[in-house]
Amino acid sequence: MRLVLLGPPGAGKGTQAARLVEKFGLLHLSTGDMLRAASAAGTPMGLAAKEIMARGDLVPDDVVVRIIEDRIAEKDAAKGFVLDGFPRTVAQAQALDAMLAARGEKLDAVIEFEVDAEKLVDRIVKRAEEAKRAGLPVRKDDDPTVFETRLAAYRAQTAPLSAYYRETGFLKGVNGMEPIDAVTRSLDSVLDRHTHA
Ligand code: AMP
Repeated sequence: MRLVLLGPPGAGKGTQAARLVEKFGLLHLSTGDMLRAASAAGTPMGLAAKEIMARGDLVPDDVVVRIIEDRIAEKDAAKGFVLDGFPRTVAQAQALDAMLAARGEKLDAVIEFEVDAEKLVDRIVKRAEEAKRAGLPVRKDDDPTVFETRLAAYRAQTAPLSAYYRETGFLKGVNGMEPIDAVTRSLDSVLDRHTHA
């Protein structure tokens, strides 16, 4: 199964992706995680991305497209994957379609987390507090000011993907404002209906 999770930062995509990985044995492909790893490793690409991410802006399409293209060409991606945080622009979505088509593959579903963007800042502040309490590193971009830029990037560049995927017919919505377990149940039922349709 090849899935895309769509939704603004803080919508709960990462949490639900982890559950899908456990349930279906999929690969979790988060471009945010991959970019953070590259930045921690100090690669030239990682260092360039680090500054952009700290501002809350999007990394150039060609950079993330190459990362995903390389990753899905690896053997373990054959078991299927859940994309979290990619694509984030229509150009990335088109590149994804093209790279999958070249491999004779396609997406099974795109699931959009429907959330109230105004409430997301609270979630992000909570996420930072929880990480701090657990002694985990706090993401620099989980800061209310940077978060506003991330949300603005979402509205301007990522939100148009809903229409893009609605046209291709495999966009499904879940209410991302519900408690975590309820969102998981909605996802299960969407996928169940979709994969048995
Ligand atoms: P995330 O962990 O998905 O919230 O991503 C953190 C940051 O990484 C974003 O704010 C962007 O700066 C960058 N990033 C992650 N994925 C992408 C993408 N698909 N396109 C452009 N930038 C991305």
